[in-house]
Order: sequence, then C-alpha cells, then structure tokens
Amino acid sequence: MQAARPQEASQTAGAVRDVSRTTCCIVGGGPGGAVLGLLLARAGVDVTLLEAHPDFDREFRGDTLHPSVMEIMDQLGLAGRLLELRHTEARSFTLQTASGPFTPIDFSRVKTKFPYITLMPQTSFLQFITGEAGRYPNFRLVMEARVRELVEEGGVVRGVRYESEDGTHEVRAVLTVGADGRGSRVRRLAGLEPAKTSPPMDVLWFKLPREEGDPGGLVGRFGRGHVAVMLDRQDYWQAGYVIPKGTFPELRREGIESLHRGFAELIPEYADRIEHVRDWKQASLLSVESSICPRWYGPGLLLIGDAAHVMSPVGGVGINYAIQDAVAAANVLSGPLKVSQERLVDLDVKHLRAVQRRRELPTRVIQRFQTLIQHRVLAPTLRSNEPFAPPLFLRLLLRAPIVGSLPSRLIAFGLWPARVR
Ligand SMILES: Cc1cc2nc3c(=O)[nH]c(=O)nc-3n(C[C@H](O)[C@H](O)[C@H](O)COP(=O)(O)OP(=O)(O)OC[C@H]3O[C@@H](n4cnc5c(N)ncnc54)[C@H](O)[C@@H]3O)c2cc1C
Repeated sequence: MQAARPQEASQTAGAVRDVSRTTCCIVGGGPGGAVLGLLLARAGVDVTLLEAHPDFDREFRGDTLHPSVMEIMDQLGLAGRLLELRHTEARSFTLQTASGPFTPIDFSRVKTKFPYITLMPQTSFLQFITGEAGRYPNFRLVMEARVRELVEEGGVVRGVRYESEDGTHEVRAVLTVGADGRGSRVRRLAGLEPAKTSPPMDVLWFKLPREEGDPGGLVGRFGRGHVAVMLDRQDYWQAGYVIPKGTFPELRREGIESLHRGFAELIPEYADRIEHVRDWKQASLLSVESSICPRWYGPGLLLIGDAAHVMSPVGGVGINYAIQDAVAAANVLSGPLKVSQERLVDLDVKHLRAVQRRRELPTRVIQRFQTLIQHRVLAPTLRSNEPFAPPLFLRLLLRAPIVGSLPSRLIAFGLWPARVR
C-alpha cells in the first residue's frame, strides 16, 4: 500500500509551527523507548524519540538491570562500558525470617555472564543509551516534547503533535510507538484499554543513610503486617515499605512516628536510620498496579513496555520487560520499516501483531507468578501480626537442584528472553 504523502498543512496547521518526518516516532524516553530508539537507529531506520521531561532524572524509579538486560547490552557490545558507570550489584535476595535467613532468589544458580542485578540510577542508563543512539545520524532525540495528539488519517496513525517551549510541532511517521509508561497518553488516545488486576499493596519509597559496615546488595524483611526491602545504592539505602492497598491516608493520619515504629519493628538494627525520614515529603508512594492491554497495536501504532502492560514491583522486572519488548519490536520491525522508509509504503499490521504475539505470553506468565507471590505471600503477611516464616515445603523446594533455581531464572530472564538479532 502506498503511504499517504504527508501534507504540509494538517487540520491544525494554524497552531502547528512545523512538520517533520521520520520513519518511527517513539513517544517516551524511558528504558523501553530509549532502547528501541537505539536498536532501530543501529539498523538504519530513521527514528525520532520524544521525551516530555527536560532530563532523565528519575527519583525512586526502577534502577535495576536484570541479567537479561545485561546480556542484551553484551550482545550490542555495550556491557563493558555500561559497567564502568557507577553501580552496585545484588547477587541474591535474602529475607531474615522467624525461622532464619531465607534466600528465594540466588543468581549464582543461573547460567549467565552477569549473575546479579545491576543497580544503576536510571538517569545514567538512559543517558548512556541515548548517547549511543546519538552516534547514528538517523536518530533524533527531542526533550521537553510533550505529546498531546495523534495525527490520524482514515483510521491510520500517521504521527503525533507535541508541545514544547516554543509551541506545537508535528512529527509524521510510518510507525508511532507509545513507550510513554503506565499512564500512557498514546494508549488512551488510541482507545486501547488495559485490563487491570490491582494487587493488595502499595509501596512507600524513601532514602536512608548508609553507614560503614552495612551489608551490600538487597535486604528484605517480612512480618507483623509489613514488608520492607532495602537496596544498596552506594551512598544511601533505597528503602521500600509495603503497606496494604489504600492505607496510606490512614498511615499519614497516624503520623510519621507510625512509619518509624512499623519499620523499626521489622528491621530493628536500622531503627535509628528511619528517624531521618521526618516528613512525608521525603517519601514517594507507588500505587501498585498490574495490567495488560488485550491489544498492543493498531494501524500505524504500537505500544511497548509499561504502556502495554504495567508490572507489579515483585521481582522488579518492569525495566527488564520494557527492554525485552524493545528488542523483540526491533527484531520484528527493522526490516519492514526499512522497506517502508525506502519505498514509502505503509507498515503491514501483521508485523505489529507479531510483536505482541512474541511478548504477550512471557508477560502474562511473569504477571501470573507475581500475582501468586502477592496473594500467597505478601497479602497474608500484610494481614498478619506474626513474624513471617516460609512454609517448610517452600524451603525444601527451593533447595532442590533444578526446580529450586526456577524463581531465580524467572526473575533473571523471564520466559523466552529476547535476543538482539
Ligand atoms: C516508584 C517506582 C519504583 C519502581 N521500581 C522498579 C524497580 O526497582 N525495577 C524495575 O524493573 N521496575 C521498577 N519500576 C517500574 C519501572 O520503572 C517501569 O516498569 C519501567 O520504567 C517501564 O519502562 P517504560 O520505558 O515502559 O516506561 P517509563 O520508564 O515509565 O518511561 C516512560 C517515559 O515516557 C515519558 N512520557 C510520558 N508521557 C509522555 C508524553 N505525553 N510525551 C512524551 N513523553 C512522555 C515519561 O516522561 C517517561 O520518560 C518502578 C516504578 C515506580 C513508579
């Protein structure tokens, strides 16, 4: 099919300052959008990446790069340079429980060059990836570009209109990718509705000081109605305090001392550190969501990452899955997009369907696993006032040679991990 020749004058031409053209317009410079931009640019596809924020600064966002992501970086020849950036490594996840230390996740049991989670500020990762993409002349990054509308003609998405400091601009593209996160505007404008499964928890994130002699990696505690995790960020601890869904207003009313008490009961050896959180402004509430769109595409449009499926924080796999979507999309679409670019033809929807087909099952499987953990482990812990003790059968199961390493493998790679072609 011949692509409709982009017209200089669109319906809102009065308001639009200029119209630019590209082959793929990606909305959102998070991990999914940035990696897709790099991969397509590397394959010779013209790409414009639009990011609403003026920079990549993210506080309390996912800062975890799982083994699958590091292997993707390795396949691109970038792992060595990425690991030169400041980071910490978490090789296992041990919970102190009423019946002693319990290690459900241990990456040394997984066959990989990178048997750890790399903890690196998302800002550094995104700057690194977009810096790499910027080496290709066919890659364009526009910061402070807030996408407001889709450009649609005859039911086909042909690009977007975005606002920036100096007014409204239009980008025309063969393919528009919504990589604009959990509250995706592109998804809403396209009328694609996610199906929600709201899990029974919310997470409060805050920073605690680190001191000499503190352990590294990940620290976790369950019990007495709460769950806490602490991630070693070199200069500080990133602490997550899990509370039953919707109970933050109640906790707030009880006062910050209530958070101090709950946290100190759970991790007594850090009781003095929690005193550093003096104001609720120092904490950020993550309303936990889990959802998936029944359809991730339409003519001229594709959703990836959180825009297509919001992941629960169990296992911290959101970034991992957004990047794997990007790799799968680039594998499937690079060739057809180059054909569209050279011959000015539309992209056949079957290629977009193929991306969803490649990624939907792995996403649904990990979401099932997360729901299981939430309902069987987290929800009962949040309801109980007793210290947490993992059931004996689970302890024994996790010691078994192959079955026992399954949770670690699932968190590290998921099902059917994507490889860069
Ligand atoms: C508090 C918190 C903690 C988390 N912790 C972890 C963790 O430890 N590990 C983990 O793997 N995941 C974690 N996640 C989830 C993880 O951050 C996401 O799953 C992941 O970032 C999804 O990547 P993405 O590229 O799909 O979307 P996002 O990272 O959400 O990126 C979307 C981008 O789109 C931009 N954007 C949005 N709207 C527009 C628009 N209209 N125009 C232009 N740009 C737009 C946004 O500014 C953003 O940069 C956490 C999430 C939260 C909220």
